[in-house]
Amino acid sequence: KLVSREFKPEDTIIDVDGILIGGRQLVVMAGPCAVESREQLLESAFIVKNAGAQFLRGGAYKPRTSPYAFQGLEEKGLELLAEAREQTGLKIVTEVVDVQTVSVVSSYADVLQIGARNMQNFQLLKAVGKTDKPVLLKRGMAATLKEWLNAAEYIMSEGNYNVIFCERGIRTFENYTRNTLDLSAVAALKQVSHLPVIVDPSHGTGVWKLVRPMARAAVAADADGLMVEVHPNPAKALSDGPQSLTPENFSAMMQEIDTVARAI
Ligand code: PEP
Ligand code: MN
Repeated sequence: KLVSREFKPEDTIIDVDGILIGGRQLVVMAGPCAVESREQLLESAFIVKNAGAQFLRGGAYKPRTSPYAFQGLEEKGLELLAEAREQTGLKIVTEVVDVQTVSVVSSYADVLQIGARNMQNFQLLKAVGKTDKPVLLKRGMAATLKEWLNAAEYIMSEGNYNVIFCERGIRTFENYTRNTLDLSAVAALKQVSHLPVIVDPSHGTGVWKLVRPMARAAVAADADGLMVEVHPNPAKALSDGPQSLTPENFSAMMQEIDTVARAI
């Protein structure tokens, strides 16, 4: 299998225009759950840039659980992400939700995100496998490690070897948290695969107070980086406010993960 360490013993390091992902140099992708407005996005971009992130995240196409919830700004959102990149120098990671929009999202994004709900959308995996953009592959909320590895294999088998795994929590009997963040999967994946692995403690817990401790733990568990939701005013967020960090908490998190990375 192309994903395996047997196929490729050394770590894959993905070069996104000078920003390296993999090989244990921490990469941080941060920003709001959704692109809501020009003001909100640019403010978020400067916050995460100043705290030391390399990527701005933000959904323009949102796969919401309810059809009545905010669905995203779509192409307008992509334009705003491109403007934020221009103003800050941050790279852009944003979700592509279907085959029809792969080409428009690829024309704006530096990294294409496949969301948890689409991890086994094999047509979509094949479509992003035909692009030249790195793919951030989130774990399906009920996916086993083997299913997740096979999803990456779908992308790689089309010729795109730049895949990044993102652990974002799975469904378990525990409902105190939104999901159960499976950090054992992170250490396991790093052993069986050469691909980079990052952790999303925001969706992984659903609770902003748990994000900093889980970010620290992720780094200790061999993650190559983090994806974190940050909002200038989480109480006003159109989606995922309860799990979004304030600018202050995000800055504190950045210092903490640096301390952990140096210690291990
Ligand atoms: C997201 O990162 O915006 C998102 C929707 O996450 P997930 O696919 O992990 O639920
Ligand atoms: Mn979200």
